[in-house]
Amino acid sequence: MAAPITTISDSKDRQGLNLIAAHSHIRGLGVTPDTLTPKPNADGLVGQQRARKAASVILQMVKEGKIAGRAVLISGPPSTGKTAIAIGMSKGLGEDVPFTMLASSEIFSLEMSKTEALEQAFRKSIGVRIREESEVIEGEVVEIQIDRSVTGSNKNGKLTLKTTDMETLYDMGTRMIDSMTKEKVMAGDIISIDKASGRITKLGRSYTRSRDYDAMGPDTKFVQCPDGELQVRRETVHTVSLHEIDVINSRTQGFLALFSGDTGEIRSEVREQINTKVAEWREEGKAEIVPGVLFIDEVHMLDIECFSFINRALEDELAPIVIMASNRGSTTIRGTNYRSPHGLPLDFLDRVVIISTQPYSPDEIREILAIRAQEEEIDISPNALALLTKFGQEAGLRYAANLITTSHLLAQKRRAKEVDAQDVQRSYMLFYDPGRSAKFVAEFQKRFIG
Ligand code: ATP
Repeated sequence: MAAPITTISDSKDRQGLNLIAAHSHIRGLGVTPDTLTPKPNADGLVGQQRARKAASVILQMVKEGKIAGRAVLISGPPSTGKTAIAIGMSKGLGEDVPFTMLASSEIFSLEMSKTEALEQAFRKSIGVRIREESEVIEGEVVEIQIDRSVTGSNKNGKLTLKTTDMETLYDMGTRMIDSMTKEKVMAGDIISIDKASGRITKLGRSYTRSRDYDAMGPDTKFVQCPDGELQVRRETVHTVSLHEIDVINSRTQGFLALFSGDTGEIRSEVREQINTKVAEWREEGKAEIVPGVLFIDEVHMLDIECFSFINRALEDELAPIVIMASNRGSTTIRGTNYRSPHGLPLDFLDRVVIISTQPYSPDEIREILAIRAQEEEIDISPNALALLTKFGQEAGLRYAANLITTSHLLAQKRRAKEVDAQDVQRSYMLFYDPGRSAKFVAEFQKRFIG
C-alpha cells in the first residue's frame, strides 16, 4: 500500500480555497471555553446565541468523539447564519479533524453517480490518524560517549549501544532521554553513564549541531531489537482522510488526482480493502479513527435516494457527524410527491437534532455589516451603514453585504476615501435584490423568452 502523503490540514487548506469568501470574517463560535456561553459579538459572529450554544455543545461532543453517526439540521430563514455557524464549528475543530462542505446541488452536476459523490463526501470527513515509527536517520543522531562498561557505535546514522546487561542499559536509555528532554544533556555532549545508578554526568562537548538535539524530542525512544541492539526510534503521526487513502490506492496517479480533484468513481473493492487495512492498523495500535464533520448545505435539494443513502451511511461504524442546513419550511421531498418539513423524509427527520436560527434585529444586521466592511478593509460612514442596515432588513443580509463591495467601487470612482450613503443608494439602484428582480420579471413577463 502506498504511503499516504497528504494530510487533513493540507486538504483543509485546499477546501479553504473553495469556501465562500463571504464567511472569511468567521474565526470560531465565539463562546467562552468553560461554560460554552456565546458572547454577543465574538470570533466574527454576532447574536444567534441559542443556535451558537447548541452548535458549541455539538462541537464539544465531536471533540470528545461521542457523536459519530448522528445528524444535525440547522434550519432557519435565508441569511440567518446557518453556513456561518457551520464554518464557526469547523474553525473550532482540531487541525486534523476533517470538515467537508457539500452544496447539495453539486452532487447532481458531478461526473459520477449521486451516491458515489455522497460516499466520497462521507469518506473525506473521516480522518485516520496514523502513527509511524522510524529509525532516526543520519544526521539526527546524538553523539554519546559511553563509559567503559558499554560500547557505542554510530554507523549509517544508526546509534547502536551494546552491553551484556541489556536491561540496565534500556533503563539508562530511557533516563537519558528523560534528561535530554529536560535539557540537561544537549546534542553533542559527551556524557558518562553510571551503570549502577543510571546517573548521567556531562564530560564536555564534542560538536554542536542543535538540530540533532531537536530530533531527540519526547517522541524519540530506545527500542530493543531481537538481535540485542538498541535503536533510536522516533514516532511520527499524520492524519489523512479515508477518501485520500482510497484515491491514492485506486489510481496509478492517485496522488495527482487528489490535487486536480478529478478522482472519478472509486471501486467498492478498493474501499473494502482500505477498511480492512485500517481495521488492522487500529488493532495493532498503529491508527485511530478521527470522525469529522460533513456539512450539507441546501439539504432540501437532495432526493429520496440520497436520503436513504445517508440514513444507511449514518449506521456505519465509520461515519462522520452530518450537519445539514435548510431554509425551506414545508416542501416536497425531491423524487416523491410528498411534502414534509424542510423536504426531509419523516423517518430521517426523526433521527435528526434540529438547531434553528432566527431573523436578525436591525442592530445585529448593522454589527454584521460593520464586521464585513472591516474584513474587506472598507471605510464606511455612519449614514452609509444605516442605509445598508435598512436594505439588509428589507432585502436580506447577503444582499446588503454585497452592496458594501459595489458601493466601495463607486466611492473609489469619485475618489472618496469613505463609502457614503450616496454610494450605497446608487448601488441599490444599479443592483437588484431578489425581491425587486421578481417584481420586475412579473411586470415585464411578456418581453422575456418562455
Ligand atoms: P441561506 O439559507 O441563504 O443559505 P445562511 O443561513 O446559510 O443562508 P449565511 O450564508 O451564513 O446564511 O449568512 C449570510 C452572510 O451573513 C454571510 O456572509 C455570513 O458570514 C454572514 N452572517 C450571517 N450570520 C452571521 C452572524 N451571526 N454573525 C456574523 N456574520 C453572519
